[in-house]
Amino acid sequence: MVVRYILNGWPSKCPSEDIIPYYSRKNELCSQDGCILWGGRVIIPQPGREAMLNELHQGHPGITRMKSLARSYIWWPGMDNDLELTVVNCYSCQENRKLPVEAPLHPWAYPSHPWSRIHIDFAGPFMNKSFLIMLMHIQNG
Ligand SMILES: [Zn+2]
Repeated sequence: MVVRYILNGWPSKCPSEDIIPYYSRKNELCSQDGCILWGGRVIIPQPGREAMLNELHQGHPGITRMKSLARSYIWWPGMDNDLELTVVNCYSCQENRKLPVEAPLHPWAYPSHPWSRIHIDFAGPFMNKSFLIMLMHIQNG
């Protein structure tokens, strides 16, 4: 039904309650190569959603990573809720929930010339103050 509206145009009022999430995005939906897109995201039809959830859940990346990955590529009405349910119902995800995510250290290549890169971040609170830290390479050699 949604596909038909995308191809032939939408009525001036939302024709049915179950397609409200699509209707509210109607100006941002399009069809391409047999897929419906919302912006750059492929809209996954009901039969494919479980496979997508399983794919995103590979390696138990946790809810934040799963959502961020999903939001980059796919969408369906209630997707965030389905992602949350997947994690909540997974024993392994719940076991590891409190552990901080281990981020691999990322060594920066040495800058080729002064002022080519500046790192800025907040540090603290330390002694009730937050600090703005700025690092830059200002001299060669
Ligand atoms: Zn899991």
